[in-house]
Amino acid sequence: MIRGARIDEVRRLLLGTFVRPPEETGTGQPRLEAVYGYLVRHPRGLLLLDTGLGEGDDETEAWYRPRRVPLQQALDGQGVSLADLDVVVNCHLHFDHCGGNPLLAGTPVVCQRRELETARRGDYTFEHLVDPPGATYELFDGEAELWPGVHVVPTPGHVAGHQSVVVRCEDGSVVLAGQSHDTASAWSADALAASATALGHGGPLPEAPVWMTRLLAFDPRRVVFAHDAAVWEPT
Ligand SMILES: [Zn+2]
Repeated sequence: MIRGARIDEVRRLLLGTFVRPPEETGTGQPRLEAVYGYLVRHPRGLLLLDTGLGEGDDETEAWYRPRRVPLQQALDGQGVSLADLDVVVNCHLHFDHCGGNPLLAGTPVVCQRRELETARRGDYTFEHLVDPPGATYELFDGEAELWPGVHVVPTPGHVAGHQSVVVRCEDGSVVLAGQSHDTASAWSADALAASATALGHGGPLPEAPVWMTRLLAFDPRRVVFAHDAAVWEPT
């Protein structure tokens, strides 16, 4: 647990928005989606989960029509400068999560080893975002306690190397889920499914990812997401 830290002090930063075209929404309508990062103050320093939308190629720019909030501008609201950041965690390395990494030469970037290997194989994210000058990775193979009370937990699904962050504050744990789920509602459905047997339901039952059990074991008081402003809280 992080002494003195409170859940409300984990701050959400709006890092940009993009328009998901009808071809990807399944509704026949475009959908505006937000990109959020999260700032954690810890006795060891400042941790940032995800760094926003990177510059894509012309085709990607035209497809998603992104509007970016410069990372420094997003941090201004918290009185923080880029140089103040002590560690960056990327939930995964798609271009909408690691866009600000080139601004952070020398700042350790935490991701799962398999995620970096996937990104370096190409055709995954934009190469200038993967190994910009000064990039310094801190790689994990599975779960780890990055700093006391700050855990990275693999949550494969959206991509195989996806990870989430759990921050254990004095008033409970907050899960920075990243894109383990696109929405709080999707998390809610999986959290309920994970407890179906305990609630007395017999099969057949919906299956939740096996790692839901691990995240729920932290007894989260709040779960927040990379692309949804909605928040999950337990009953
Ligand atoms: Zn994303």
